[in-house]
Amino acid sequence: MEEFWTKAVASVGAQVSPEVFNLWIKPLRPGKKLSDGRLEILCHNDFAADYVRSHYGTLLESAIAVERGTHQSLSFRANPEASNFSEKPSPKESSPRQDAATQTQTNEVPPVQPAANSGLMERYTFESFVVGACNQFAHAAAARVADGPPLVYNPLYMHGGTGLGKTHLLHAIGHKVLKDRPQTKVRYISSEKFMTLFIDYTRMGRVNDFKGQFRSVDMLLVDDIHFFAGKKGTQEEFFHTFNALYGDAKQIILTSDSLPSDMPLDERLRSRFAQGLVVDLHPPDLETRVAILKKKAAIEGIDLQDDVAFFLADAIHTNVRELEGALIRVFALASMEKAPITMALVKESLRNILKNPERRVIPIEEIQRTVATFYKISPMDLRSNKRSREFSHPRQIAMYLCKKLTNHSYPEIGEQFGGRDHTTVLYAVGRVNEKQSEDSILAKQLQSLSEMLSH
Ligand code: ADP
Ligand code: MG
Repeated sequence: MEEFWTKAVASVGAQVSPEVFNLWIKPLRPGKKLSDGRLEILCHNDFAADYVRSHYGTLLESAIAVERGTHQSLSFRANPEASNFSEKPSPKESSPRQDAATQTQTNEVPPVQPAANSGLMERYTFESFVVGACNQFAHAAAARVADGPPLVYNPLYMHGGTGLGKTHLLHAIGHKVLKDRPQTKVRYISSEKFMTLFIDYTRMGRVNDFKGQFRSVDMLLVDDIHFFAGKKGTQEEFFHTFNALYGDAKQIILTSDSLPSDMPLDERLRSRFAQGLVVDLHPPDLETRVAILKKKAAIEGIDLQDDVAFFLADAIHTNVRELEGALIRVFALASMEKAPITMALVKESLRNILKNPERRVIPIEEIQRTVATFYKISPMDLRSNKRSREFSHPRQIAMYLCKKLTNHSYPEIGEQFGGRDHTTVLYAVGRVNEKQSEDSILAKQLQSLSEMLSH
């Protein structure tokens, strides 16, 4: 059974993410066969037993069935001696019993290569990134950091609006490092994932395992750290991770939608972030948009004529993600109709966007950014608790526009404004509606904001 178990675990490992594997699957141990024929699987604690049973029980059973050729029901339960095999500070210091337990597994399960554990997305490389005036500085800094030690910019902090290439550059750095120096331990993680992992590991009583996996890397890439705003516990944990890596001269690269000084974070973190190099990304100009379209088409092996590329680039100027979305729709239509990509086809495929600009899906972040720029404050101020009218007025406007221009619910909008209650959003929408009927200047401002956003 041990042998089947090891093989089954390895096959499950190939089907789930490295995070899921390390957190839930790897710690499982086969126990004894029960009188009813089920095989006992020992988990860290009751929480893990419940979670694995409901989320991965069937997957494990079918993996075993494939290996053994017959079905084997499993029974998940907390290991009474779980404390003996959790919270191991490092493999070297673990107890002999623990070593024996992991040995049987690590001998047979192929070791995970650093690259396999990095969390990097294949298509986001420097080669597929188009450099223009809008991102030149960020690109140069990213390329320098990817060249490796000596550390010149630590941390590198890249900020800018949504869909402008922050995540792309972050992955590109990781790929370059792994290509040039394959032994480097690179880890990409979104801030949201960092938080959920932290919570899960904490619940499992395995905080040290959590700490271990982030503090042992050579390069940490953390995406969208504005997400940490208002999340005290996670912020604290991230601060310690940051300090540990920084102290060991490991490279840290962060992205955010705001400047460090505008982030409602713990002062200690803010000043740490500003210690390195802070670079920003801007929306691309027409020329760069055309170059991006041509590159994406070339990657897909599709011929895109200049007039068509210009037409598309001119019609969509908000951000690169939108531009890419439009191009994908064009490709899809061309392939469905088995027709070449002509101006007529492009116009047909973009009909909805071009004719009904208000139908475009507008991200809440973009509304926040536009409103913040309009009122000369930062998007973070809109999500903060600051109460003075300077901030509360634009905040109400932004909430109102989110309700008017998107399909998001009141609670969803509240969540994006620093986790506010839905009644606050309801109130804001009501207030703005009232005010604009009395205040013609406000009505005009709302009109131009709506137009800016819908375009
Ligand atoms: P952000 O993280 O800033 O929101 P992303 O990095 O996810 O934006 O970029 C959105 C999409 O646009 C991705 O598919 C990315 O490949 C593409 N993109 C952004 N900037 C560029 C660029 N300069 N060259 C090529 N593709 C780009
Ligand atoms: Mg991103």
